[in-house]
Amino acid sequence: MAKEKLGFEHLKANVIDIGKCCSCGGCEAACPIGAIELQDLHPTLVKDCTKCEFCWKACPRMIDDYGPIYEHVFGEDARRDPFLGVYRQAYALRNADESVRKRSQDGGVVTGILIHLLEEGKIEGAIISGVNCDEPWKPMPQVATSRKEILAASKSRYTRSPNLVALREALKERKLKQVAVVGTPCHIQGIQLMRLAPLKKIDRTVVFTIGLFCSETFKFEELMQQKIVDELGIPLENLRKLDIKGKLLVYPRGAKESLKIPLKEAQAWVDPGCHPCRDFASDFADISVGGAGTPGKWSTVLARSEQGQIIIENLIKAGQFLHEEIDSESLERLRRIAAPKINPK
Ligand SMILES: Cc1cc2nc3c(=O)[nH]c(=O)nc-3n(C[C@H](O)[C@H](O)[C@H](O)COP(=O)(O)OP(=O)(O)OC[C@H]3O[C@@H](n4cnc5c(N)ncnc54)[C@H](O)[C@@H]3O)c2cc1C
Ligand code: SF4
Ligand code: SF4
Ligand code: SF4
Repeated sequence: MAKEKLGFEHLKANVIDIGKCCSCGGCEAACPIGAIELQDLHPTLVKDCTKCEFCWKACPRMIDDYGPIYEHVFGEDARRDPFLGVYRQAYALRNADESVRKRSQDGGVVTGILIHLLEEGKIEGAIISGVNCDEPWKPMPQVATSRKEILAASKSRYTRSPNLVALREALKERKLKQVAVVGTPCHIQGIQLMRLAPLKKIDRTVVFTIGLFCSETFKFEELMQQKIVDELGIPLENLRKLDIKGKLLVYPRGAKESLKIPLKEAQAWVDPGCHPCRDFASDFADISVGGAGTPGKWSTVLARSEQGQIIIENLIKAGQFLHEEIDSESLERLRRIAAPKINPK
């Protein structure tokens, strides 16, 4: 007897209703009939479900074991670092263009690669987390198709951004054929699970992935509104930058020094959808980028795919990225930062 097909209800019961959803947007992107919409970050059924099964197959919260994704992406023989995943080369990099670097979060590597891919004609657009003009610092999934849009989206917003939602717009409305995706590990897992599902059009269209390191995201209301606006008295339009370097650092515009929030206090605002997550270094991206492991103004970069390594090497050769050796001590420090997420107590 044929096995009964499972639809949206399966995702709802196993992820959404039990507080495991991290609002990556993968289910909305995967649904071929547009039956799912993230409403206020909450996946909601807006049409009759045909039980095609793609939404729950694309959901990073439906899997506890990353083994099948490792095998699919790197092959079964790949040697895997338990904390940093599979990678060909580690780099400390910094964008040589100071005007780009200064408006970026760390080394301006993500923005630099996206602009390079766009200007070389390797992508028509990038799925990123843009900025919302009406609500400052509220992350907004976006399809960026110009240098200006990519630059405007630089810097990290440490609250949920359902980046994958923008894939629907890129494929269905704008009919783009080659896009890059930027995201936290859950976004990149979503892309690989869509490939495995298999969602062939998404597989063909997403030609490059840039994963960010990620320990957690925070709830917007608690961090941005209650703490930064109400308690610290900083209107969000006057906030220049947020950073995490042992503490949560808040940089108001015009101030030289940051205000510091202990990470212990911030733990109370961590999004519950992040609790089951065991991927720190975006293990399944073409390249992964983070601030940990290198000094400020530099990025730690792990090239995982051959294509990722070629792009980085070309940007170094062309003088667009400054390059320094990353020593084994720095990588060891990075592993220690990743460890509590991979193996929680
Ligand atoms: C939620 C979050 C948590 C992070 N946690 C860590 C960590 O624990 N340790 C660490 O070393 N690094 C962490 N990072 C990565 C770090 O903050 C930088 O993004 C990374 O070093 C790249 O720097 P860059 O200068 O190259 O990026 P930039 O050139 O400034 O580009 C940043 C890119 O990030 C995207 N982005 C911004 N906010 C979000 C978001 N909320 N979700 C998805 N994409 C977003 C933008 O689209 C932009 O393209 C985190 C990033 C995010 C977004
Ligand atoms: S992806 Fe398929 S199973 Fe999920 S809601 Fe859409 S139609 Fe239903
Ligand atoms: S984690 Fe992502 S794919 Fe899963 S239900 Fe939430 S938004 Fe959908
Ligand atoms: S901790 Fe995991 S689930 Fe949360 S934003 Fe980061 S990658 Fe996504």
